[in-house]
Amino acid sequence: MTPLDDPYQDIRDGVRALCAEFPPEYHRKVDTERGYPEAFVDALTRAGWLAALIPEDYGGSGLGLTEASVIMEEINRAGGNSGACHGQMYNMTTLVRHGSEAQKARILPRLASGEIRLQSMGVTEPTTGTDTTQLKTTAVRRGDRWVVNGQKVWISRVQHSDYMILLARTTPITDVAKKSHGLSIFLVDVAEAMASGMQVKPIANMVNHETNELFFDNLEIPEENLIGEEGQGFKYILTGLNAERALIAAECIGDGYWFTDKVTAYVSERQVFGRPIGQNQGVQFPIAEAYIETEAASLMRFRACALYDAGQPCGAEANMAKYLAAKASWEAANACLQFHGGFGFATEYDVERKFRETRLYQVAPISTNLILSYVAEHVLGLPRSF
Ligand SMILES: Cc1cc2nc3c(=O)[nH]c(=O)nc-3n(C[C@H](O)[C@H](O)[C@H](O)COP(=O)(O)OP(=O)(O)OC[C@H]3O[C@@H](n4cnc5c(N)ncnc54)[C@H](O)[C@@H]3O)c2cc1C
Repeated sequence: MTPLDDPYQDIRDGVRALCAEFPPEYHRKVDTERGYPEAFVDALTRAGWLAALIPEDYGGSGLGLTEASVIMEEINRAGGNSGACHGQMYNMTTLVRHGSEAQKARILPRLASGEIRLQSMGVTEPTTGTDTTQLKTTAVRRGDRWVVNGQKVWISRVQHSDYMILLARTTPITDVAKKSHGLSIFLVDVAEAMASGMQVKPIANMVNHETNELFFDNLEIPEENLIGEEGQGFKYILTGLNAERALIAAECIGDGYWFTDKVTAYVSERQVFGRPIGQNQGVQFPIAEAYIETEAASLMRFRACALYDAGQPCGAEANMAKYLAAKASWEAANACLQFHGGFGFATEYDVERKFRETRLYQVAPISTNLILSYVAEHVLGLPRSF
């Protein structure tokens, strides 16, 4: 898309200007130290970018998922990693769409001002993985509280978040008509939970992405922190998951452009056998292919976001956008690393860091296989395989 017909050029310019204050050295240092980009996330918050999806009545800018996706795309395109802060975007969609007035009034203005963060969502469990409806964590009502027991794994940004959205089973699976019924979502005050009932154990991993195991031992959650209707949590969490897929697609698109820009510049300069390596079609074609796929993924991302913003079902498009974008960015990453030769492995080029970061999206938040399975069953009507 050229700048002339891009309706989001103002957003792009604004985010790019902010990102320019955080050069590659900044992100490289944070990655090397396995730190959290506090200054970067604070700057994004202060500039209002992380409050894009909060309605104006609650202090946000009342934009749609489309604009939010452009913000995430630009962060990654500038060499940053939205993974440090994207949780706030998709988690707040769950709260905005399904939270009570009291919850929204209590949380959203403080999120918009940056006083608190809602970066975490606890869904995945060690024994059930992608088979979410089989999750084992339970929440049982006791008086005016819910008592939570169980375990989660891979939960991101818990230590950089004030609140987390937690999915737990409130009715045993044997007592519900459909396995997706009987699950509920809760707003968890992280500091309170860590003081009584929730243990957080970090998981060191390949990317600088804070993830944790969580152990719940009679964690008490006040009843007013149940989001929406009891038993409908699976449906509500899908709101956040679809938003998450579209936003992560946008991040992969940003990565795709970052890799293709970076490698194009490099192969145009690098001389081997007396000519730029980019003059060889064996070098040009994989880069061109990744660029084409990034552009196509971007269109599917806009389609998914438009449906989401119109309040229409967007599960298929959000999944397909995420699939296409993760594939495009991974191919772009491979081409970028390959054609940097040995230099691609040097930390100072940032290629290896971005390569690790974008690889994650073949697996999380949903693996490519599970997307193919979703499309086969729900779009093409093929027989259910599990
Ligand atoms: C860095 C990171 C951050 C994360 N952050 C969060 C978070 O904040 N909150 C959260 O809840 N979760 C989070 N996750 C978890 C993530 O969503 C899961 O890892 C992902 O959904 C895959 O689940 P799993 O790891 O249990 O894999 P499994 O479900 O065990 O699947 C493993 C592999 O098997 C294949 N597979 C499984 N079933 C099938 C099938 N039926 N057909 C074909 N292939 C199949 C897939 O290829 C899959 O990649 C994070 C993970 C990582 C690595």
